[in-house]
Amino acid sequence: MDDKGNFAQNSVIRESGVWAMPYHESLQPCADHAASHAVSANAQSDLLHKLYHKLLAHYGDPNWWPAASREEMMIGAILVQNVSWKNTVTALHLVRERFGFTFRALREAPLDELAACIRATRFYQSKAARLQAFSFWIEAQCGDDLDRLFARDAIELRRHLLSAPGIGPETADDILLYAAELPSFVIDSYTKRIMRRIAIGPERDTYEAWRSFFMERLPADVLLYNRYHALIDQLGSQVCRASRPLCTACPLKTCCTYARSQSSAD
Ligand code: SF4
Repeated sequence: MDDKGNFAQNSVIRESGVWAMPYHESLQPCADHAASHAVSANAQSDLLHKLYHKLLAHYGDPNWWPAASREEMMIGAILVQNVSWKNTVTALHLVRERFGFTFRALREAPLDELAACIRATRFYQSKAARLQAFSFWIEAQCGDDLDRLFARDAIELRRHLLSAPGIGPETADDILLYAAELPSFVIDSYTKRIMRRIAIGPERDTYEAWRSFFMERLPADVLLYNRYHALIDQLGSQVCRASRPLCTACPLKTCCTYARSQSSAD
């Protein structure tokens, strides 16, 4: 496995539509986990639950998403694309001060002024255009009445959001989970990195495969999905970094193949 948590091709076996470490290494995916005899969906479900409870015990309730309104949450979900949350907060503060968090205000905002407010986010000019286009889309879909927009069921609403300008799967799932409060698991680069290092995940490395992997193994519980994604992001940004992860301080180290491979190499 390399430093980014990727396994060498010949170290991976494929079993029941998932990838995992070779059998002898996957026998005990968690050192303090009761016997796990194969990488079955049930064992994976148990492990996902165990990881969640370890993260929750370590970090506590993350109280995510930090927004005072659904509009603020949705605007933040677009701004945070490919940028740190810290920079997003800076941009959100300026948008709040200058325009407020209504889609009408964003539609009426001069594009260059909106772009200046969100300069802290990458690609701020295209993001300003994206925000404005999304605000017009919201008006066309529901006249800014989010209760009307969110009255659809989760599958239909997700399909609908994915047709909106500037909304990809991760942003759509953010909005579904944190604004519409519907059970849709959010996948991001932290999720994939951490789970790859632990050695659990789907066979295909696509957004939809990762999302299905979690949703087929966890109950459709909004609070569980809400906290799980936030806890993963906390771990990924602070501990399970892309290079030189802080494994000795990690609450998941007893479950992690990467950490075991590092300590056995010492
Ligand atoms: S022990 Fe924790 S920090 Fe280290 S690779 Fe595993 S999940 Fe990441």
